[in-house]
Amino acid sequence: MRWDMNRFKRIRISISKICIYLLTAMVLTWFCLDTTAEAEEDTLRIVIDPGHGGENLGGEYEDYTEKEMTMVVADAMKEELEKYEGVTVYLTRNGDQELSLEERCEFAANVDADFLLCLHFNLSEHHTLFGAECWVSAFGENYSKGYGFASVEMELLEELGLYSRGIKTRLGRKGLDYYGIIRHATERGIPCVLIEHCHLDQDNDKPFYDHDEKLKAFGRLDATAAAKYFHLRSDILGVDYSGYQNVVVDVPADVVAPDSTEPDFCAIEVLEQNADSGEVTVQVSAADRDSGMLYYAYSYDGGETFSELLKWPDRSSDTFCFTMQVPPRVVPRIVVNGYNGYDLFTESNMITLPSMDYKTPEEIAAELAEKEALESASGNVDPTGDDEKAQKMPQREEPKGYDGLFLAMCAACILLLLGMAGSMAMILRERGRKRRRRRKRR
Ligand SMILES: [Zn+2]
Repeated sequence: MRWDMNRFKRIRISISKICIYLLTAMVLTWFCLDTTAEAEEDTLRIVIDPGHGGENLGGEYEDYTEKEMTMVVADAMKEELEKYEGVTVYLTRNGDQELSLEERCEFAANVDADFLLCLHFNLSEHHTLFGAECWVSAFGENYSKGYGFASVEMELLEELGLYSRGIKTRLGRKGLDYYGIIRHATERGIPCVLIEHCHLDQDNDKPFYDHDEKLKAFGRLDATAAAKYFHLRSDILGVDYSGYQNVVVDVPADVVAPDSTEPDFCAIEVLEQNADSGEVTVQVSAADRDSGMLYYAYSYDGGETFSELLKWPDRSSDTFCFTMQVPPRVVPRIVVNGYNGYDLFTESNMITLPSMDYKTPEEIAAELAEKEALESASGNVDPTGDDEKAQKMPQREEPKGYDGLFLAMCAACILLLLGMAGSMAMILRERGRKRRRRRKRR
């Protein structure tokens, strides 16, 4: 019985120990699980959406296909952004899959995304537009957050050298966001920015995308924009954006409607007309209080044809001057179109100037060639000469040399004749005097 009691005590102690161990293990496991969950909850979730994919090629220009380009940019962006701490990065597609806009937003919602960034490249209907732009939701917090991120993105794209076409909203017929991806994201409460990095069909932008390395640079730039906006830091990259100052954008009470009207005015004045060179200096004044001025184009034929679009030189100023070249023998009828941030334009007044009868460098060169051909045909030039020009130059000089010699000889002859005449007159005068003296003596 005694032995049994001891055995029972030992068993009781062992059970107690096991219970303590189990309890400790449970507490530790719970603690660990809790901190992991907390860490996951704290992490920022960014979803990157490489535009298009599968049958949906996106923009195509020369050898470039948008769906392939956006994938290169997205992979580079993910790789770079993952170098920062406290961020989880997702891609809506990892390869050449076709996804609807709704599926992309559904994916973002499923991973509880804090932000959806959609990567694209642009093309314009008439291949005239150039530069980068960001599209954001026109509504509430998604507008202010979208605008805040887009401000960082556009600043970096401008630093890279791209022309900024601004941060804009666009509405569809039902008064909702026009771009499906922004509309579906907004419905799910996910802030979304559609980045149009540049235009594929414009020479101004080509140097920014014509190599995979440049597309990867776009990706790294997009990642830096996100890191700055979300105040991330990276030990790997040695950067800390925790103190970065974002643009503060108030949450709008109403829908932020896009600019649907042309610039308020566009007027020109001619400052100078150079009849010898065909250059005309024009002063342009234009303004758009909604979306500002973006481009201008000029015409010298009364608006029948226009130059390509040109950057508005200083977006903070309504007035600037430029010099245009008008071809010879054309009556210049000058018109300028001023474009606003939404590519809507206002045509200026027309100024008619006197025609300029100057010769273009091409015409001067053609005339010279014709003259030389004629001289060559008439035999003035020794065709056996090695250097035609060297041969011709002295020949042209020769008549001038002969003329000088001839004039000098003539002058010498005249002086000689005058001298001879003077001498004869003196001789005759002397003889007359002698004769008179003889008569007196007689
Ligand atoms: Zn696209």
